[in-house]
Amino acid sequence: MCGIFGYCNFLTEKTRGEIIDTLIKGLQALEYKEYDSSGIAIQGDELKSLNIYKQTGKISNLKEEIDLYNLNKDLPFISHCGIAHTRRATHGEPRRANCHPHNSDPSNEFVVVHNGVITNFANLKALLATKGYVFKSDTDTECIPKLYKHIYDTSIELGYNLDFHILTNLVLKELEGSYGLLCTSSHFPDEVVAARKGSPLVIGVKGKSDLRINFVEVEYLNQKEDNLTINTQTNDFSNVLGAAPVKYNTCLRRSPPLRPQYLRTSPRDRNIFTLNHVSSTEISADDGLPQPIEFYLSSDCPPLAQYVNKVIYLEDNDIAHIYDGELHIHRSKIDPGDFSIRAVRELESELSKMTKGPYDHFMQKEIYEQSETTANVMRGRIDASTNKVVLGGLENWLTELRRAKRIVMIASQASLHSCLAARPIFEELMEVPVNVELALDFVDRNCCIFRNDVCIFVSRSGETTDTIHALDYCIKKEAVTIGVVNSSGSSISRLTHCGVHTNTDPEKGIATTKSYTSQYIALVMIALWLSEDLVSQIERRKGIIQALTLIPSQIKEVLELEPSIIELCNKKLKKPDSVLLLGRGFQFASALEGASKIKEISYVHSESILTDELERGVLAVATDVLPIIIFATKDALFPKIASSIDQIIARKGNPIIICNKEDKTWKQDERIRNVVTLEVPQTVDCLQGVLNIIPLQLISYWLAVKRDIGVDFPRDPVMSATNI
Ligand code: GLU
Repeated sequence: MCGIFGYCNFLTEKTRGEIIDTLIKGLQALEYKEYDSSGIAIQGDELKSLNIYKQTGKISNLKEEIDLYNLNKDLPFISHCGIAHTRRATHGEPRRANCHPHNSDPSNEFVVVHNGVITNFANLKALLATKGYVFKSDTDTECIPKLYKHIYDTSIELGYNLDFHILTNLVLKELEGSYGLLCTSSHFPDEVVAARKGSPLVIGVKGKSDLRINFVEVEYLNQKEDNLTINTQTNDFSNVLGAAPVKYNTCLRRSPPLRPQYLRTSPRDRNIFTLNHVSSTEISADDGLPQPIEFYLSSDCPPLAQYVNKVIYLEDNDIAHIYDGELHIHRSKIDPGDFSIRAVRELESELSKMTKGPYDHFMQKEIYEQSETTANVMRGRIDASTNKVVLGGLENWLTELRRAKRIVMIASQASLHSCLAARPIFEELMEVPVNVELALDFVDRNCCIFRNDVCIFVSRSGETTDTIHALDYCIKKEAVTIGVVNSSGSSISRLTHCGVHTNTDPEKGIATTKSYTSQYIALVMIALWLSEDLVSQIERRKGIIQALTLIPSQIKEVLELEPSIIELCNKKLKKPDSVLLLGRGFQFASALEGASKIKEISYVHSESILTDELERGVLAVATDVLPIIIFATKDALFPKIASSIDQIIARKGNPIIICNKEDKTWKQDERIRNVVTLEVPQTVDCLQGVLNIIPLQLISYWLAVKRDIGVDFPRDPVMSATNI
C-alpha cells in the first residue's frame, strides 16, 4: 500500500497554484514509501468539474505533467477539495492508465484514490461492464468510482436524494478487501469522503488558533439509512424495513449527530470521560457562524506535520465526510466495544525530525539513532538503583497479566523477529509457555485462544492489517491484549487493552532498524515487569536490568565498526550471490532479521539457518565463495557454535564471525587468520541480539549503497513501511 493525501479549504482563500503545491508537498512527504506513480484531482475551470493529472515515476514527473497544461494557477478558491495519491501497484503494472486517481467516466463525475486491494474487483468489473462501463486500467481500484456512479445514477432514477456518505456506505457494502480511500465528485462539489478498512487514514485539522476540540462524535446511520441496500444486479434498492422506494428525505444532508451510547469502559479508557464534550459540528460552528478551516487527509502522519498539530485517526469502517467546513464521522452501526468518539490528538512529529541531517540516507541515520531510541524506550521505565521496571501502560491490568497461563506474541516481519528474540527470556522469567505467531498464519489457522491467554501484538506502525485482524480475533476470544507499537493513536494502540509505546519517531527509511531494537527492549522490559513477583528470578532480573542501562553506550561502540564493515563490503562481500547467516538460541532471531534485511535492502539472496542445522546439507554449499556470517557471541551455546565454526573452516568455508570484543578465541586461532571478525561489546545473553543486529543493519546498508540501490526506496520492501 502506498500513499494518500487530501486537502480541503473552507472560507480560507487559496489559489489553484497553492492547492496544487499543498497536494504535491503532501505527496513528497510520503516519498519515503516505495511508489511507482502519482496523481492528483482538483477542480477544473468549469464550476463543479474535476480535473485529473497523473504520471508514472517520481513526483517531479507529475509536477512536469501538470505544468504542461498551463493551468491558471492564480484562480482563487474559497472552498475546494483536492485529492492525491502515490501508487505502489498491486494490480496492473506502473503505467499512466493505472495511476490514481481513477474516474467513473470521462467527465469525472466520481474520482477516487485508493490504498489497498479490492479482492472482489473482478466480479464488480464484470458486473459493471454489463451495465456499459468501460474500464481503462488494469487496477482493482477503478471499479470503485464506477460503482459510485452506477449506484448514484440508479438512486436518482429511483427518486432518492442520497447524501454523499450514504452513497459511500452503499458503495462500501459492495467492496471486499482492504481500502483507505478518498472520493470527490462533481455531484457533491467541494466535498470529500474518506473511508478506511485495513488501511490507515488520518485527518489533520487547522482552524482558528483558539480551536478547542477534544474529540469528534461518531454519527451512526439511522436504521433506515443503514438498511438501505442496492441490488447491483437488478438495480433495485431495497429497504429491509419493507418500505417501498420513496424520496429518501432522511438521507438529506446534516442529520444531527447522535449522542454516544456505547463507551468501552476498560481502565485505560477512563480518561476519555474527563475530556470536554464537544460535538463534531462545533469544529466549525463556534457561535453558530461558520469559520475558516482547513482539513488535511493522509494515509500517514508525517506529511501532516508540516501543516497541523491536531489529528484525528479514522477507524476501520468509519466514513468521514467533509463539507461546508465541517467534519462528520459516520458509521453504519454500533458494534460492541466501539468508541463512539474519535479523539483529537496532538501531532508531535515535527519537520525537524524528518531530515537526514549529516547522513546520506534515512536508513543510515536511523541505524545511528539507536543509541538514543533504545534510551528513549527505557526512559522513566527502568530504575537501576532499585532494579525495578515501571510500565505505567500495563499497571491497570497487572492481575490479569500475571495470571496468564500462556503468552502468545503475534506480529509480522521484523516485529515477528523481535518477538522471537525476546521469547527465550519470557519463557525463562515467566515460566509459562510462549508462542510466537506470524499474524497472517495465525488468522488463517483460527488458532485456539483462551480467556487466560495474554496476547502481545507487536507492530511498528500499529496499523499492520494482519496483526489487526489477529487482534480482533483475540479480543473476541476475550484474551487480554497488549500492544507494543511505535505510534500512539494507531489502531493497535487504541484497540488493545493496555500497552507499551516504544517512543520511537517514525522511520522514514523503508528498512526497520531502530524500531526492531526498541521493540526488542520493550518486550524484554515486559518480561521483567511481569516476572517481578517471582523470587526465583531476582538475581537474573537484576543482571538484565543493569545490563539494559549500558545498552545505549554499547550501541555507540558497535557503530564504530562501520569502517570495517565498509571494507568488508568492498572486499569479501564485494559481489556475493548469496549470504548465509547462522545463529542459535538467542541469536537465531538475529540471523532471521539479518537475512531479511540483506534481501530487502541490498537485493542479495540471503538465508538464515539455525547453526546446528549446518550438517543437514548446508556444509555441502559452504565453499570459499559463499560468505557465511555466524553469530558467535558468548552465551551458554557458545561451545557448540565454536564447533560449527570449526567445521566450516575445515571445509575451507568463508566465515565472518560476529563475536565479543572480550573474546580472544578467534584472535589466537592460527587457522583463522584470514577469517573476518566483527567484534561487539558483551552484554547479558538475552540482550546480546540488540547489539548483534547492528553490524547486519550496516552490512545490508553498505551492500545496497555499493550496488547503487536507492536504500530508502527498495523495490520490494517486505511490506509497506507503515505496516510492519
Ligand atoms: N490496488 C491498487 C492499485 O494497484 C492500489 C495500490 C496502492 O495501495 O498503492 O492500483
